[in-house]
Amino acid sequence: MTSDRVVNFSPGPATLPEPVLARVREDLPPRGETGASVMEMSHRSSEYAEIHDGARDRLRRLLEIPESFEILLLQGGASLQFSMAPMTLMGTRRSADYVVTGRWSRKAVAEARKHGAVRIAASTEHEEFRRIPDSDELDLDPTASYLHLTSNNTVVGTQWRGFPEARAPLVADMSSDILSRPVPWDRFGLAYAGAQKNLGPAGVTVVVLRKELLDRAPDDLPTMLDYRIHAEKDSRYNTPPTFPIYVLGLVLEWVDDRGGLEAMERRARQRSEILYQRLDESDFYRGTVEPGSRSRMNVTFRLPSQELEEEFLAAAEDAGMVNLKGHRSVGGIRASLYNAMSREGVERLAGLMEEFQADHG
Ligand code: PMP
Repeated sequence: MTSDRVVNFSPGPATLPEPVLARVREDLPPRGETGASVMEMSHRSSEYAEIHDGARDRLRRLLEIPESFEILLLQGGASLQFSMAPMTLMGTRRSADYVVTGRWSRKAVAEARKHGAVRIAASTEHEEFRRIPDSDELDLDPTASYLHLTSNNTVVGTQWRGFPEARAPLVADMSSDILSRPVPWDRFGLAYAGAQKNLGPAGVTVVVLRKELLDRAPDDLPTMLDYRIHAEKDSRYNTPPTFPIYVLGLVLEWVDDRGGLEAMERRARQRSEILYQRLDESDFYRGTVEPGSRSRMNVTFRLPSQELEEEFLAAAEDAGMVNLKGHRSVGGIRASLYNAMSREGVERLAGLMEEFQADHG
């Protein structure tokens, strides 16, 4: 499998660990006593229950999620959580604080506004989202039902280094950095993430929700948008995305084997520092965000001209490194370095950057 495999810097769906892909290939023929592959099993079978509960329980252990939180495995992506979170959590106060640090937080605000009053606690839009606001810049409403933030901004390449202190419970879109560092759960009400970057394939969304907040849910929620139903039914009210959940379980097993959360955090720091060091040493490449706000997941930078950027992307592709093109809204180069990205892959990119600069700088 290795010989023709590219180094895939995709922002998501993203590269998966090779041992996981190999396991999927092995497991796909009919397995065990069921005589059916995992894709063909009933979601009510005991075999599937083991896969489903195993993935959920391992995630709880790896991320040290307290028992006072539900872990739900849902569909609809992080985008559906932009609606589900306010529909349940705004409760009777019907007002929430949002920090706007990029395209995805803006979308979260737009959805929340359909369900209540949204106060913008801070926004760095006027600075093209090049940084995360400092905690003393946050204008917080002490009576807000929650404070929403995007922990890692996939498009522009910024990340909250620490989570702010607030009276209101934190709600975070962790789509692009979940399972890459510890979470101070005592300050959190809810965290959600699509799996397709750090956790597995597209199709399953992880929701971690403080149980006591379920009391805020209004009674007239549509069944499928009601966290209480999904919690009661162990995320099996209807048919769950069984195959993505099975692969999620394999990815979590792989994370465990590699040393767990601490190892993921250390490796993420090491991988991103290889590239940031290159940017800092060079006057050819230019990082696009403020150093204090740099993401360890998505490293974004520019070359002196758009023509050179196109040439660089072509040279990378020739060398087997793909999906480095920046998001269409910002351009430039973006290297996404999620948990399954190898250090060797990043070193290859850093090597290309050095060569390309020598030839064109
Ligand atoms: N939030 C963030 C931070 C993202 O990066 C993305 C996807 N790139 C989304 C939300 C949207 O996720 P989904 O496609 O799973 O709805």
